[in-house]
Parts: sequence; C-alpha cells; structure tokens
Amino acid sequence: MSGSCEVVVVGGGQAGLAAGYYLRRAGLDHVILDAQSQPGGAWRHGWDSLRLFSPALYSPLPGWGMPGQDGEDFPSAGHVVDYLRAYEQRYDLAVRRPVRVREVRPTGAHLQVQTNAGVWSARYVISATGTWQCPYLPDVPGREEFTGRQLHTVDYASPAEFRGQRVVIVGGGNSGAQILADVSQVAEFTWVTRRPPRFMPDDVDGRVLFDVAARKASGAGGGVSELGDIVMVPSVRDARERGVLHARPMIARLSAHGVCWADGSEQPCDAVIWCTGFRPDLAHLAPLLPGWRHGTAPTDGTRSTEEPRLYLLGYGDWTGSASATLVGAGRTAKATVADISARLAG
Ligand code: FAD
Repeated sequence: MSGSCEVVVVGGGQAGLAAGYYLRRAGLDHVILDAQSQPGGAWRHGWDSLRLFSPALYSPLPGWGMPGQDGEDFPSAGHVVDYLRAYEQRYDLAVRRPVRVREVRPTGAHLQVQTNAGVWSARYVISATGTWQCPYLPDVPGREEFTGRQLHTVDYASPAEFRGQRVVIVGGGNSGAQILADVSQVAEFTWVTRRPPRFMPDDVDGRVLFDVAARKASGAGGGVSELGDIVMVPSVRDARERGVLHARPMIARLSAHGVCWADGSEQPCDAVIWCTGFRPDLAHLAPLLPGWRHGTAPTDGTRSTEEPRLYLLGYGDWTGSASATLVGAGRTAKATVADISARLAG
C-alpha cells in the first residue's frame, strides 16, 4: 500500500473517525491509517469494569449518536467499541488497518508519511494517535528495587488477580478511584495521591461536564477541572458507601518489599498499581517537532505552530476544550477540517 492524497489521518480511534467524517463531507481526498487490526482505539484496552461517565446520549460523534446500551445507564467500553465499528461502517470511512506510521517527514511541498506498509504523501497530516500507548510513570525513587509487581492503568484488567494481596494504588484521578473501587472489594489496599482527592458533586456526570466544556469552547466560563477531578460514577459512590475512599499522602519511595512513607516507616505490599496518567503519543512526529520531548506540542487551536501542515486532534484540552472526549472530538475535528479546506481552496 502507498499513495498520495490531500490529507493523511494518523490514528483511527474516535478522533481519527471524527476527522474522517468531516473530510468525507468536505470531499477531500484522504486516508486514515490505524495501527490496530480492529476498530475501537483505546476503548479496546480498558479494564473489565470501565464505564463511560456519561450516558450514550451525551457521547455522540458527529452525524450519528451512540445508541443506548440495554440495561446500562453508563455504557461499557465494549459498547463504545461496537459503536465505533458501526460508525466507521455507516460512513464507509477510508480506514486502512493495521498500518503503523513510523515517521512523518517534510519533503518539499508535501509531508511524507512512512509506515510499516508503504509510504504516503500528503499536503496535510492530522495526527490523532491518542495517549493510551504512552503511560506515564512518576520518577519515584526505588522503583527498580521493588521486587513485587508493578503495573500501570493500561495493564489492569480486573480485581480477581489481586484477591487476598496487599495492593498500593497510586493516583488521584478517575482511573485511580475506579480501580480502587474494584480492588478494595478483594484485597488489602492503600490509596495514595499527591494531593487530597477532589471529588465532583454527585449530580455532576458527563452531561454537566460536557455542558461546561461546550461553554468553555465558546469562550464562556471556566473548565471542568474547576468542578473537581473524580466523577462519582456508581462504582466510586459504592466505594464511598463502603468507607474506602480515603487517600494517604504520596509515598516517599519504594523499597524491595513495599513502600516507604515520608516519616521513614515502611509498609510491605505485593503490588503497586500506577494510575498516573498518560502523555500524548507524538513520537512519529519528531522530525516535524524539533522541540518535542514527551510532552505536549505548541498549537494554535489544533494546528501546530512548528509545522503549519500538521494538525493535532484529541490528546487533551491543549488541542481544544474536551477534545479527548467523544463529544469534544467532533467539535475540534470540524474546525480542523474547515481550516484545511480553506487552505486547500486558497
Ligand atoms: P485513541 O482511542 O487512543 O485512538 C488512537 C488510535 O491511533 C489507536 O487506534 C492507535 O492504535 C492508533 N495509533 C497510535 N499510534 C499510531 C501510529 N503511529 N500509526 C498508526 N496508528 C496509530 N471520554 C468520554 O467521552 N467519556 C468517558 O466517559 C471517558 N472515560 C475515559 C476513561 C478513561 C480511563 C480514559 C483513559 C479515557 C476516557 N475518556 C472518556 C477519554 C477518551 O474518550 C479516550 O481516551 C479516547 O480513547 C481518546 O480517543 P483518541 O481517538 O484521541 O485516541
């Protein structure tokens, strides 16, 4: 496979599909290259109990909203995968799989997209590779010394494997709280966070968050982080009812057999689960972004300020309010494709 087109989209998760929808509507010649062999993006890899924090009605991609899931107010990750598969079939989106983009390079007036399955040439590239492939681990001393098991959110599947063990869960975000809710049912657990956890009010779920994000996108009001960090989904509420939602301040280091606190005391444990977030997956763009070092990259909206033929879609609020959510992906994809269309026309 290889070819030449006006726009190459790297990544066929929700953000890449939203871009495909608007590219198709605009009649632009394009292809979406996705490294996975099946549709669904990061939603294919969530843990068993992972649920959306908003009802299906509030999680639409452009054009066709997510159908509800029978018997579930908050759809499962598997339901989202089914939706993304059906979405790309419905709009006959031009996704090629599995194709991993290794590098995007400037070559004269075009960008050259090098993959494990050939080379594409494009006037513009939209990168929508998400964050799931770049788990972040904080630089806590002693991580190499610890002889127990260490895993990140991306490696966690279900609490069953921790039954009867002593588990330390690190991280004060939604994944930390949801995995704590799981693990606390079967294991002896300790939850540690860098700052005291900030729980959102019970009546704030994805519906409210997305309204707030939409207001912010239109320039009115603050962002969702002002409301707190942790959405009180049913499993986290249940954990609160069981009295387990209590965090200790961050550990000072790991030892061979456990964690050590700031006062020097040691607590033995069998496993540490790092629910410490992700970084944008931009390694394939290194030739275009000389200043990039495993963090974000400077943009104006979604357009790179270092390489004007490059757009960054999804990833986080730095590419548009709530752009890494299902509903936000559509808003930023629409603006991105409108900008590319105008430049191609001009
Ligand atoms: P991804 O889904 O990661 O898709 C990126 C795609 O690009 C993947 O298929 C990947 O294989 C491919 N790719 C990567 N690198 C390359 C390459 N070099 N070449 C080719 N292909 C490549 N959002 C909501 O709206 N509601 C929620 O309730 C919600 N809950 C969340 C809960 C958790 C725990 C997390 C982590 C996120 C949640 N999100 C939620 C946020 C968001 O919807 C997801 O993170 C979403 O998967 C991001 O979509 P994406 O398309 O940007 O990236």
